[in-house]
Amino acid sequence: MLDPTICPSCGDRAEAPTVRQGLLVCAECGHSWPFRRLPLLALTGPSGAGKSTVGPLLAERLSDRVVVLEQDVLWTGGLRDDVDGHPTFRATWLRMAAMIHQSGRPVVLCGTVVPPEFEPLPERVLFSGIHYLALAAEPDVLARRLRARPRWRGWDEERIAEMLRFNDWLRQQAAGLFPPVELLDTTRTALEETVEKVVAWVEQVLATD
Ligand SMILES: [Zn+2]
Repeated sequence: MLDPTICPSCGDRAEAPTVRQGLLVCAECGHSWPFRRLPLLALTGPSGAGKSTVGPLLAERLSDRVVVLEQDVLWTGGLRDDVDGHPTFRATWLRMAAMIHQSGRPVVLCGTVVPPEFEPLPERVLFSGIHYLALAAEPDVLARRLRARPRWRGWDEERIAEMLRFNDWLRQQAAGLFPPVELLDTTRTALEETVEKVVAWVEQVLATD
């Protein structure tokens, strides 16, 4: 089974996977088996701070070491829930990333998320660590970038104001979250320089986790 939440012996799917001494353990039949427990890298931050622009360049630069994915691709159908923190959406991403990890390369997930949305989920045990780097920007710059987006993306003033509040909150709270979120301000940074800094962050995580 590529999905680490499914027991290869009895086929049970664990609602809450158990990891003991580096092995997955089936609560149903007791079978245990090895799996790759890799770090997950979350490139987060408010919309308009540059995640989607950085993503493709990151994929190009690090294609031999990580798998870069855009979170919004699963923001659809039943996963697009109204529940606070979107636990079904988040848990599905953790299962997906853990499955991709079985091919040996850590996932860099580009999309807005904060530690309290991933850390309490049962699937968290499938990763050695989840590391967060947030791209952020000064509010006027962020608002200008969001207002310039095509209409179909739905950035009305109310939604922009909500994103600015999140940006403020993140810039103030990042260091105090658990685990702490690293901040990278993109207000006055050229795209190439931002990419360099994100690449350096990925390389540092890969070297230490
Ligand atoms: Zn089993």
